[in-house]
Amino acid sequence: MSDQQSILSGFRGRFGRDADALWSGPGRVNLIGEHTDYNDGFVFPFAINRRAVVALALRDDRMLRVASSFTEEIVEISLDDLSPETVSGWSAYPLGVAWALGQKGADLAAVAGFDAYIDSDVPIGAGLSSSAAIECATAVALDEVWNLGFDKQVLVRVGQLAENKVVGAPTGILDQSASLLGQTDAAVFLDCRSFESEVIPLGFDAAGLELLVIDTKVSHAHATGGYADRRASCETGARLMGVASLRDLTVADLPRAESVLDEETHRRVRHILTENQRVLDTVRVLREDGPGALGALLDASHASMRDDFEISVAELDLAVETARTAGALGARMTGGGFGGSAIALTPHALIPAVQQAVADAFTAAGFTAPDMFVVRAAAGAGRLS
Ligand code: ADP
Ligand code: MG
Repeated sequence: MSDQQSILSGFRGRFGRDADALWSGPGRVNLIGEHTDYNDGFVFPFAINRRAVVALALRDDRMLRVASSFTEEIVEISLDDLSPETVSGWSAYPLGVAWALGQKGADLAAVAGFDAYIDSDVPIGAGLSSSAAIECATAVALDEVWNLGFDKQVLVRVGQLAENKVVGAPTGILDQSASLLGQTDAAVFLDCRSFESEVIPLGFDAAGLELLVIDTKVSHAHATGGYADRRASCETGARLMGVASLRDLTVADLPRAESVLDEETHRRVRHILTENQRVLDTVRVLREDGPGALGALLDASHASMRDDFEISVAELDLAVETARTAGALGARMTGGGFGGSAIALTPHALIPAVQQAVADAFTAAGFTAPDMFVVRAAAGAGRLS
């Protein structure tokens, strides 16, 4: 996160006046539970100490103007023209949230326009949800300045609606839940069917553990790539198994799935059912044995995504294997897949060794040098000043 003064002066530079206040929303890393969210299953993400900040001031008219530190462009639209068809590109995230608040009951005919300036240190497309960081920062900002009083569960749905209908990415509620509900040194155990959530202490600090993110720099495209394809496979699997969603099945149903489904769909379904179980096991292991005992679950999750769900790539596999060999307790790719980041749960003292080993392995393989950094579980979206 850039310092607050530079964000306030960024706002001033674009709009020629002062911002009313700053709000921020964190990116997230998903510790375990991948592609389970849209199957009504379990996920276990945490908000990270990398954030999008929105500086915002209300206007006297109905115009919405959004700007970002990453572009010179200022996007303008009237509240009266706001719809999924009229916004596109990066502005679909903040403007999509404004539209989605209207869909969830805000009276957009009665609110004032705004100027907003976004700055973020969540890397784009690294699997850390730079998009949810912007959505959630914008959602808490507009909830406050428009006096909506929406609770966080509603703001989660607002972010998801913006992403689904305005951006056009068929994503679940994982990212926005982590970004809105996260707490320091804790993760959000989320049931994507009931939307119930529980904040579970991680205890990484006390155990001397760090979560190393290895951004492979391989880019992914949720809206057009294999994400939608995997989602369709899960729907097919559920339909052929005679259930509303894969959440209605457990690992005990795997033998029947194998006899009913074609080989590929069976493997897709097996990933979801075993991954749901691994999330439950992760929460139990954290409570009973602490974070030092999570390695095998992270490793098994990666193997399942690589072999059954087939959403890994060579760079992610190399990052995971190398981190493990160099001393990480466990490692897995995280996020939607087809690129993005791996995470490695690593004793503090071994972080430099793991980073060096991964850098060397990528050089030897002829891959682009990865970006590596430690993330800490941080507080969810809210007002900064
Ligand atoms: P991620 O996994 O990082 O969420 P997405 O493709 O979902 O990847 O979202 C990335 C998009 O979010 C970018 O292409 C851009 O449109 C928008 N975005 C991210 N960071 C910023 C920023 N600082 N300013 C403006 N738009 C941003
Ligand atoms: Mg995203």
